[in-house]
Amino acid sequence: MKYRHLGRTGIQVSELSFGSWVTFHNQAGVKSAVDMMSAAYDAGVNFFDNAEVYAGGKSESVMGEALKELKWNRGSYLISTKLYWGITEVVNQKNTLNRKYLIEGIAGSLERLQLDYVDLLYCHRPDATTPIEETVWAMHNIIEWGQALYWGTSEWAASEITQAIEFAERHHLHKPVVEQPQYNLFEQGRMNGDYARFYKTYGYGTTIWSPLASGLLTGKYQGGIPKDSRGALKGYEWLSNHLTDEQKLAKVAALEPIAKGLGCSLPQLAIAWCLKNPFVSTVITGASRVEQVHENMKSAAVVDNITPEMMDEMDVIFGMKKAE
Ligand code: NDP
Repeated sequence: MKYRHLGRTGIQVSELSFGSWVTFHNQAGVKSAVDMMSAAYDAGVNFFDNAEVYAGGKSESVMGEALKELKWNRGSYLISTKLYWGITEVVNQKNTLNRKYLIEGIAGSLERLQLDYVDLLYCHRPDATTPIEETVWAMHNIIEWGQALYWGTSEWAASEITQAIEFAERHHLHKPVVEQPQYNLFEQGRMNGDYARFYKTYGYGTTIWSPLASGLLTGKYQGGIPKDSRGALKGYEWLSNHLTDEQKLAKVAALEPIAKGLGCSLPQLAIAWCLKNPFVSTVITGASRVEQVHENMKSAAVVDNITPEMMDEMDVIFGMKKAE
C-alpha cells in the first residue's frame, strides 16, 4: 500500500481507504465489520470513513464496537465522521451546520464511536442558511477542544470552500483541509473542472467516494439487479434507475477488454483508474463482504500497468474525449 499526503497537511492516508455507508448495520454487523476492517488494515489501509447519518447513527456504533474488538494502536489509524443531516427530526438539528448542532453532533458521534476524537470531521454538505463564519468558528472550536484533528467539506462548491478558507485565514482559525467529492468513471466533472485548479492553489486534499458508482462499475448489474446486491436493498430503490441504465451498462461492458488485457477484474480497474488522478489523496472503497475487500485492495497494484492509451480509451468510452 502506498500513502499520499492529505493535501498540504502533514498527515498521510493510505491510497485506498474503507467506508461504511449502506453496509454497516444494514448488511454487516460487528463481526463482519471486524473482518472487513481487519482485511483492509492488514492490506495497509489506515483511514476508515463514517458519518453520523449512516444507518441513523448505527454505522458509527458498529464501527465503535469493531474498533474496541480490534484493539489497534490509536496512532496507526484515522477515523472520520461527518455532520449535516442529523439523526432526529428536531428543528436546529437537521440539514444544518449551525454551532449548536455541530457541537452537540460531534459529542454524539464520539460516544457512538467510543473514541476521544476523530481524525477528520467533515461538513457533510454545505448549509446556505448558516453564516460561513458560524460554521468555521464551531469547527475551529471542535479542533481546539481536541474532539477532531482536521476538518473538511463534502460536496461543497469551490466558491464555498474558498470563502471558508479565507475567513479562517483572516481570523487565524483552523481552516478546512480536505474535500470529499464523488469521483468515478461516470462522475468526473468536479474533479476535472474548476476543482483541478482549486486543489492545486489551496493544496486541498480529496478523499473520494463511490469509486464503483455503488457497484455499477463491477459489471454485476449487466443481467439485472442481483438479489444480494445494494440495488436490491430496501430503502435504496432510488439507486435502481442508475444501476439498470442501459447506456451506462454498455459503457461498463466496453471496459471489459481493457480489464482483461490488464489481467484484473472490473472493480480493480475502476478503482485503479481513480488512483491515476494525482489530486486524489485516497479512494474510499466500500464492501458488503470480506471477499470484496480482498479483491479491491489489489487495485493499487494495477495502477502502474494502465497505459496512457488505455486512459484515452476510457476517456472515449465515458465521453470525456472524442475518438480519433
Ligand atoms: P462503491 O461505489 O465502491 O460501492 C461499494 C459497493 O459495491 C459495495 O458495498 C458492494 O455492494 C459493491 N462492491 C464493492 N466491491 C465489489 C466487488 N469487488 N465485487 C462486487 N461488488 C462489489 O463505494 P460506496 O458507494 O460504498 O462509497 C464508499 C464510501 O464512500 C462509503 O462507505 C462512504 O464512506 C463514502 N461515501 C461518502 C459520501 C459523501 O457524501 N461524502 C456518499 C457516499 C459514500 P453490494 O455487495 O451490496 O452490491
